[in-house]
Amino acid sequence: MSSSDQLQRVMFEQADIRSVLVGLEQSYQQALSKHHYPRLINILLGEMMAAVSLLSATLKFDGRLILQAQSDNQLKVLMAECNHQRDLRAIARFDGELPEQAEFCDLLEGGQLVITIVPEQGKRYQGVVPLEGKRLSNCLEAYFAFSEQLPTQIHLAADEQRAAGFLLQVMPAKGDSATDWEHFSCLAATLSDDELLKLDNETILHRLFHEEDCRLFEADSLQFKCDCSRKRTGEALRYMTREELEQIVRDEGSIDISCQFCNELYQFDLADIALLFSDSANIEGSDQLH
Ligand SMILES: [Zn+2]
Repeated sequence: MSSSDQLQRVMFEQADIRSVLVGLEQSYQQALSKHHYPRLINILLGEMMAAVSLLSATLKFDGRLILQAQSDNQLKVLMAECNHQRDLRAIARFDGELPEQAEFCDLLEGGQLVITIVPEQGKRYQGVVPLEGKRLSNCLEAYFAFSEQLPTQIHLAADEQRAAGFLLQVMPAKGDSATDWEHFSCLAATLSDDELLKLDNETILHRLFHEEDCRLFEADSLQFKCDCSRKRTGEALRYMTREELEQIVRDEGSIDISCQFCNELYQFDLADIALLFSDSANIEGSDQLH
């Protein structure tokens, strides 16, 4: 049985190389269950979720990491997010009928892929990921090679039930490890999507690196969790004027906003809007009032 909703780091004793393995099941299925996406989107979103989980293993501080692809083609947006608590969420937007099969980079041709890191304290960082090769994994490998100068190999796979990822990377700020890298990356290159999806971490590592000493760290759990809140939704509403908001309530009865990630519905009436624009606006507290 493969490892589910877990992220596991691996260190190799004799080389300055690290690895991360991730397997998503419940979290992936829960993210999909909020929507009715076609199979192609389910698979691409699974790869996005596995990718953002792998990348979150490199976060050194509290915050969130967002991977977002967008284009003016049929596929408009693919987005996955993971924070330091390993809460995952993901969303897609598209127009019309998508082909049954297509490569990530073909669907996003002319578009953009961006990694955003939002620390809880401090400045946000944004990096543009080149749309190189065919798959998301190719793009991320190119990103690490060019932007971070870190030789990296990434495998991503998803099949609507399960999403999985594997990362192999030279340790940052270490000495000359080119020979090690060549050896390890050749071994890792044989990993197939099917093996990644079906095998547990120990078996994958044994198949790829059975002659190498490696140390598996304790696995971290990942879960689907949306951190939307009434407070944040209220803050977003304040981009409109009080008069505009009150007019909508008079016309519609209330302002109804559902979270695009988890479908949670937030409703605002005239009293909520008054509170939103009062000096000590604390919309969280208004749950009790109404
Ligand atoms: Zn939500």
